Amino acid sequence: MVYKCDVCNYICDPNNGDPENGIKAGTDLKNLPSNWVCPICGIEKDYFYLLKNEDTCYPERSRILSMANHVFAH
Ligand SMILES: [Zn+2]
Repeated sequence: MVYKCDVCNYICDPNNGDPENGIKAGTDLKNLPSNWVCPICGIEKDYFYLLKNEDTCYPERSRILSMANHVFAH
């Protein structure tokens, strides 16, 4: 899942990890050490909010759904 820093808008994407701080790619924010802080602004990970969940791994599907919603709305 992808999280965003509420302070500086840093994106914590598990696909990238945080190699500078010894975080391997594939590590979810939830599994980061409790002393991990935002590499940009230094805020605690409590201040990160969920940006995307697994559903958005299927952009094609969500795009079709939003098109369908658009049609129904008019
Ligand atoms: Zn930050």
